[in-house]
Amino acid sequence: MKSGTFPGGLSLPVSDAGASKPFESVPSSQTVIIPLKQHVGDPCAAGVKKGAEVKMGDLLGESESTAVHATVSGKVTEVIKKFPDMSGGSVPAIGIESDGKNESGGALEGSDPMSLIQKAGVVDSDVEAISLHDKLTLAKEKTVKTLIVNGVDVEPQMISRASILAENAKEVASGIDIIRKILGATTAYIGVSENASNAISAIGSACGSAEVVGLAVKHPQSLKELLVKAILDKEVPTGGSPEEIGVTVISAETAYFVAQAVNDKKPMLERFITVAGSGIGSPKNVLVRIGTPIKDVLGHCGFAPGHGGKVIIGGPLMGTAIHSADMPVTKETTGIYVQKEGEIAEFPSGVCIKCGLCVEVCPMRLMPFLISGFSESGSYAMAEDNDILSCNECGCCAYVCPVLIPMVQWIKLGKSEIRARRSSE
Ligand code: SF4
Ligand code: SF4
Repeated sequence: MKSGTFPGGLSLPVSDAGASKPFESVPSSQTVIIPLKQHVGDPCAAGVKKGAEVKMGDLLGESESTAVHATVSGKVTEVIKKFPDMSGGSVPAIGIESDGKNESGGALEGSDPMSLIQKAGVVDSDVEAISLHDKLTLAKEKTVKTLIVNGVDVEPQMISRASILAENAKEVASGIDIIRKILGATTAYIGVSENASNAISAIGSACGSAEVVGLAVKHPQSLKELLVKAILDKEVPTGGSPEEIGVTVISAETAYFVAQAVNDKKPMLERFITVAGSGIGSPKNVLVRIGTPIKDVLGHCGFAPGHGGKVIIGGPLMGTAIHSADMPVTKETTGIYVQKEGEIAEFPSGVCIKCGLCVEVCPMRLMPFLISGFSESGSYAMAEDNDILSCNECGCCAYVCPVLIPMVQWIKLGKSEIRARRSSE
């Protein structure tokens, strides 16, 4: 088996590293809220009105590149214009009261794989969730011939991606074959953490058309630029995408949903996620319907929100804390991390002592102390000159900083200021 890695990053102790765990289905909730935007780009236009009766899989809204569907059967209780999202903004959303019957609507129509992927609303989710239809369209335009399937979990403690490969290898392999055919890809690789032995053996046997590559257990190996580096030893151009060098990177769970859309004509109604952290104990893998309130997922995992502690969407290094566990699981939810109250520490940030540790670990070869400092002082042009936009917000720099400078927060602020200025120009 081929192996690979990238410079920098963090080798962190991981509990249950490489283990696969079956997914438990979280029971359907009484009420679900389904955002009409669960990806980068414009929201889908609402296709239902208040009071409409819907079945599971019925279309709620659609755009040229994707679609969203009802994940329970029941009645549409509200068409919400502004529902709070993870970025602090708002998106339109549909509320549905379940009738408890979980009746399914009809199958998707048609046979063209690209059209089925759009109708099924398949979204490729990693740091950002992107419509798969858009991603494959770009890859075709750029005549991409190399496919990399990302089987590396997004963060330490998250084990859902390795588990999908171990538990659903046949479906993932079928999805890979479909994507290869769409692209005419001549080469395909599946990147998997080298300690994920169950995943490696299951996908290795199920997928003869792609080479499995074992990758060093290091954060943030799952980021697409670093997968390209580790597997192909190629650099993605600064600010560019892998498609520009003839490669596309698609997550393992996305391949699973492609198989479901094209073979079974089923829309994407669920998300595979790991729920981990001190508030949960041993990490759990769950299969959750889109729109399920996070508090119901946590309740299923034995944690009662609202009694202290912190709930983070994503993982411990790159995730975002939420203020309300009423928020729904969406296609963008990569994981849930729960900290117990006693684990949350407040600390004062110190002054940089120029130790260089952040530079050593930065996988994008940036100067984290510099771009963070420029951002903190409002010198956004200087931050941009020093490549702040190439930062993938992996959190390695802040993790090692001995004086606890919240570099990622400053960098995020700088990036959003620069983007806001660009769009107003
Ligand atoms: S500067 Fe960005 S890419 Fe580099 S370590 Fe910090 S968060 Fe990661
Ligand atoms: S790790 Fe912290 S103290 Fe060290 S150079 Fe970076 S910002 Fe400064």
